[in-house]
Amino acid sequence: MNNECIFCKIIRGEIPCYKIYEDEKCLAFLDISADCLGHTLVVSKTHTNNFVETGSDILNTLFCTTQKIAKHYITNCGFDGVQIVINNGESSGQSVMHTHFHILPSVKKENKKFENYKKDDLQAVCNLLRLN
Ligand code: 5GP
Ligand code: ZN
Repeated sequence: MNNECIFCKIIRGEIPCYKIYEDEKCLAFLDISADCLGHTLVVSKTHTNNFVETGSDILNTLFCTTQKIAKHYITNCGFDGVQIVINNGESSGQSVMHTHFHILPSVKKENKKFENYKKDDLQAVCNLLRLN
């Protein structure tokens, strides 16, 4: 844990989030930017600064949790695909120095399932996507 880290504060419950999934090792929540419908961040509850500094145990857990949520979004929620993004280092666009994977759900043009959802209505999106 890192006292100043915004994601550690979310993990400790000091800052609220729209929680999608939680277990003893990981937390997943909606990205506050709401730039795409269902944009989700997956973090380890153990603080590490970035992808390349993270040990294989934590990485395995993050990958498996990310896959679990991606499968849920495609199998149960109606998305057609997902993009997984990891920014490593400021020059790549990493702005929060707590290792995290982005899940960016995607739909085919003809998929109308989400046309009544606003991407910035995070409560409604969370109700739709929440896994546990
Ligand atoms: P990065 O740019 O480091 O790869 O991604 C960090 C992400 O964290 C950004 O997409 C940003 O919108 C998101 N973010 C920053 N602060 C908060 C916050 O307080 N709550 C949530 N849910 N997301 C945040
Ligand atoms: Zn942290």
